[in-house]
Amino acid sequence: MSDTRPRIAPVAPGGTIGILGGGQLARMLALSAGRLGLKAHIYSDEKDAPAYQVAAAHTVGKFDDAAALKTFAGHCDAVTFEFENVPAATLETISSVKPVAPCAKALRITQDRFDEKSFVVSLGLKTPAFFAVSSTDEARDAFNRLGGRGGVLKTRRFGYDGKGQAKVSSAAETAQALAGFKNHPAILEAFVDFAFEASVIAARAQDGSFAAFDPPENIHEHHILRRSIVPGRLTHAQGDEAKAIARRIADALDYVGVFAVELFVMKDGALLVNEIAPRVHNSGHWTIEACAVSQFEQHIRAVAGWPLGDPGRHADAVMQNIIGEEAADWRALAQKPGALHLYGKSEIRAGRKMGHFTTLSPLTKR
Ligand code: AMP
Repeated sequence: MSDTRPRIAPVAPGGTIGILGGGQLARMLALSAGRLGLKAHIYSDEKDAPAYQVAAAHTVGKFDDAAALKTFAGHCDAVTFEFENVPAATLETISSVKPVAPCAKALRITQDRFDEKSFVVSLGLKTPAFFAVSSTDEARDAFNRLGGRGGVLKTRRFGYDGKGQAKVSSAAETAQALAGFKNHPAILEAFVDFAFEASVIAARAQDGSFAAFDPPENIHEHHILRRSIVPGRLTHAQGDEAKAIARRIADALDYVGVFAVELFVMKDGALLVNEIAPRVHNSGHWTIEACAVSQFEQHIRAVAGWPLGDPGRHADAVMQNIIGEEAADWRALAQKPGALHLYGKSEIRAGRKMGHFTTLSPLTKR
């Protein structure tokens, strides 16, 4: 597809990549930038953020402080972000000074679950059945349209790790759940009886070239990713289909950078799109050890206008998140064979992602 946006010159080694957000994803992006001889400058509204510890520079500022954002952008050669709830106005401010990738369109569509699913359907891809719900009447009506199956009510915006979600099994419960979300606009999805969950992490470069990692199977607990396994139970054909789904989405968005598509693998083999994350993704952390070029390096390459690297996998891998109190026993974790990553978070909190652990084994199948 044609692209009318101006191409940016590649950022040469010694240049600076700006990253909005200072959590573990920004931290691992900064580490990858460093490996390529690039510097990272983090912008976050937190006083103490995990990424500051490994970045060449950081700015503490609000995401609506236009002056601070412009000064930050002035120090960078290209800017990206680690979280999808970046306000649209923030990106506009930055892009008036320096190139930003991924683009505002990708962010806008993926920030709203209804727009996101409508976009996916418009590409001829499958999702669970869904309906927009913004009033008690619509909530009841939408539930009745599910045809007797249960549903999940989700706020359209600002949900993550299962936040802003309620499982519902009647029209009354759906209306109640909407009231619980303070009547914020929501979508009601059919609750799907999937065989398992998977994701595909892929990258698209400025010139439209595309590279996808092998899709992992993902296991969630309490709505939080617990493990990613590659190869999982996806067949070879499903793996190829997942990559084709990712390519279709990336081309339609004229996307630049790494992104993830979360999938439900149905018992009949169909792949349904659950959501698109316009950023590096927790289910891609295993690529640090199991691939020549990790998702983090791949993202930095794309944002810096470099050629994409080889996403080929040279080992099987299992990535397990270290959540909450599990991080307290770091001595035991350090004794286990495998790759330990701790994110440098100053405080352990229940449900907080504190680190991850990747175990490799010889490559079995692609
Ligand atoms: P989400 O925030 O939309 O990624 O949802 C978090 C998790 O909730 C998913 O990874 C699934 O395990 C579960 N979930 C979300 N939507 C559905 C659905 N429509 N049917 C069944 N499970 C779902």
